[in-house]
Amino acid sequence: MIVILKQHTTAAELKLLTDKLGSYGITAYKALNGTALVLPNASSAMLEDIGIADSFQKLIDTNTPYQFASKAYKQNTTFAVNNVLIGNTHFNMVAGPCSVESEEQIFKTAAFLSKLGVKFIRGGAYKPRTSPYSFKGLGKDGLKLISKAAKQYNLNVVTELMDLSLLDEVMSNADIIQIGSRNMSNFYMLNELGKINKPVLLKRGMQAKISEWLLAADYILQGGNEQVILCERGIRSFDSELRNVMDIGAIALLNQLTHLPVWADPSHGTGMAQIVPSMAKAAVVAGANGIMVEIHPNPSKALSDAKQAISFDTFEQLFLQINLLVSESYLSKLQINAGAAIA
Ligand code: PEP
Ligand code: MN
Repeated sequence: MIVILKQHTTAAELKLLTDKLGSYGITAYKALNGTALVLPNASSAMLEDIGIADSFQKLIDTNTPYQFASKAYKQNTTFAVNNVLIGNTHFNMVAGPCSVESEEQIFKTAAFLSKLGVKFIRGGAYKPRTSPYSFKGLGKDGLKLISKAAKQYNLNVVTELMDLSLLDEVMSNADIIQIGSRNMSNFYMLNELGKINKPVLLKRGMQAKISEWLLAADYILQGGNEQVILCERGIRSFDSELRNVMDIGAIALLNQLTHLPVWADPSHGTGMAQIVPSMAKAAVVAGANGIMVEIHPNPSKALSDAKQAISFDTFEQLFLQINLLVSESYLSKLQINAGAAIA
């Protein structure tokens, strides 16, 4: 459960309360910059019994291992990235290459996206590659290129933070910091991201259960950074036909379990360009608040993830279809952001 402290609780009062809880075997964890406590194994009924329920401003029984990611804590989350709204009834599209490869590639992509009315460009500069002998991105030069292209075309940048040593560099070039599947369980890193004021796109660990993913989100949220987006990107299973199994059910379920925006990445979710559009649309119907896809001016020549990159033409068609889907009445939860409507 979560307890919200009364506004003027002094350190001495707080110590008395946590000592009392401790004497009943209840451990309290400070959260939200000291304005809340998490009591993982307690309930409001227990606090009533102990006689300290009235010492707090609010008691929230979440009945889940994750706390701040739960619907019990909050019904909806909406936040803005440079005036573009994210979450709840808002829908966003993100597209761009797997990796930033050259000035020409990223500027072409940015020009195309901006003409279409897409507000977010993605592109990795520091790439987590399975093999150390694969293209690992352009590093700092890649970050500079994507941020220059984004500025010129008035786009927002989504790019991956691979390691905390790169935080300042990534912070100054990204509008949304992507935490990749391989780092979803890098708990020290997640904890540090709880202290910053920048949205985090938290991709699902390829082996992560939904509850583990939401607990990973809690690492960020409990620090006070409430700008977290979840991104379903497929999980590993027994079938190697597709790169991953895209968990569409998770998208629908997360709409019940959490207030956080849920995006979907059908590129990594399938690994196969031909079915990326279908799975993108399936994700929208399941209730995703956003779609992130890999596109490339010359997909077969992409230096990473060429098999899953779709062409500009295919993306344009998908974009129009998704706009229609989003405006369907059965998806009334979602609204098209200004600029994403069909011209
Ligand atoms: C990516 O989006 O560039 C990426 C590496 O994805 P994931 O972390 O989901 O594998
Ligand atoms: Mn990729």
